[in-house]
Amino acid sequence: MPYSQRPRSAYLHIPFCHRRCYYCDFAVVPLGDRARADAGPGSASIRDYLGLLAREIAAAPAGPPLATVYFGGGTPSLLTADQIGFLLARLRDRFGLQQGAEITLEMDPASFDQQKLTDLLDHGINRVSLGGQSFDDAVLLDLGRRHRAADLHEACVWMQEAHRSGRLRSWSLDLIQNLPGQSLEHWSAQLDQAVATQAPHLSVYDLSVEPGTVFERRQRQGALALPEEDLAVELMALTQRQLAEAGLSRYEISNYARPGHASRHNRVYWSGAGWWGFGMGATSGAFGEREARPRTREAYRHWLTDRERAPMAVPEQWSAIPLDDRLLVGLRCREGVALERLGCPDPQGLIDRWRDLISAGLIMCRAGRWQLTDPKGMALSNQVLVELLVWWDALADHEPIDPAQS
Ligand code: SF4
Repeated sequence: MPYSQRPRSAYLHIPFCHRRCYYCDFAVVPLGDRARADAGPGSASIRDYLGLLAREIAAAPAGPPLATVYFGGGTPSLLTADQIGFLLARLRDRFGLQQGAEITLEMDPASFDQQKLTDLLDHGINRVSLGGQSFDDAVLLDLGRRHRAADLHEACVWMQEAHRSGRLRSWSLDLIQNLPGQSLEHWSAQLDQAVATQAPHLSVYDLSVEPGTVFERRQRQGALALPEEDLAVELMALTQRQLAEAGLSRYEISNYARPGHASRHNRVYWSGAGWWGFGMGATSGAFGEREARPRTREAYRHWLTDRERAPMAVPEQWSAIPLDDRLLVGLRCREGVALERLGCPDPQGLIDRWRDLISAGLIMCRAGRWQLTDPKGMALSNQVLVELLVWWDALADHEPIDPAQS
C-alpha cells in the first residue's frame, strides 16, 4: 500500500541576520547591525531573495492546504510585516492554508517593536519563537548576540500582552544551556527568569561547537571551557525538574510546553507525512525524499533555475521519509520509537549496538517503545544516535520498508 499523504507543512528559510553569532553555522546572510528590510542597507538584498522564494513556491507541486507554516532563519523578524504577508500569499496561492493553521515566525529581540508585532499578527502570524538565549548581558556578549537582556525582557512583555489578548495563540522562548563556565546556580536563575515570562513553550538547546565558528576557534585555542559531562547531565536534570515544577513538560529533547502548547510544526518532522522546505539551506522532506538546498544564495539561484526547467514530479507512490530519519527524530521525542512497527530490518542488531548504553541507563524499552531516559539519556543522546547511524551504515543492503507499517 503506498504512502499517499502529501505534505501539509512548509518551512521557509529567511537567511538574513544583522550579524553572525559566534556559535552559529546556519545558512545566514549577515547584513550589518543597521540593516533594514524596507529601505537602506540590506533592503535590495532582501527583495531579491523574496523573489527567489516566490519562484520556488510557485514551482512546487500544488496542494493540499497547509496546516503549519514556519518562518525560520536567520532572523525572519528582520522582514517587514508586508513581506511576511507577501510570502504567506504565495503559499496560499499554491497550496491554500487550512482554517486555524499554525503560522510561526522566529523573532529576535531588538529586531522589532510592539507595533511591528501587532502588524505581523494582522498579517496572519499566530505563533512566535523568540530567540532570547539568555537573560545575562555578559553571556549575550560572549555569544556574539546583538540584543541585550533589557531587549529580551521588553519583547517578553509584548508577547505576554499579545497572548493575553488572544491575538497571539502561543509563543516560545529559546534558551541556550551548557555554556562555558556555566554553574548550576547561574542556570537555575536563568530558568527562573524564563518561567517568570509566562512563555507557554520553552526550547532549551545545548551549545554545540560547530566547524568554522568563532567558538570552534576558541576551542582549538583552549579558550572554551565547556561543562564536563557530569555537569551537563546535571544541568539538563535541573532544566527538566525546574520546568516541570512550573508546569512545562518535556515532549522532545529540547522542547517543553504547557498543555496544548506543543509545536504542531515540530510534530510534522517525525510524523512521516513530510514537509515542504523553501529557501537557501532549507531541507524538504516531500514524497519520501529529503532534499537539501544549497547554502549560498548564488548556488541556490542556480538550483532554482534548474528546478524550474525540470519541476519536481509527484511519484505515483512513495514511502514515508527514510527509516533512519524517522528513527533519529522519533528517538528525540518523549514517546520514543517502536522498532518493529517502523519495519526495522535488523532490530536486534541495533539493540546489540546499544547494549552498553542500555546498561549505562541511557536508553530503555517501555511497552515496546525504545526511549531515551530522562534526563541522562536525553543529555547524552548523541551517544545513542551515533550507534544508530553506525548500525544503519553497516546494513549492507537496506531492506525496503513496507510503507503500510509506517
Ligand atoms: S541570530 Fe540566529 S541565525 Fe542569526 S547568526 Fe545568530 S544564531 Fe545564527
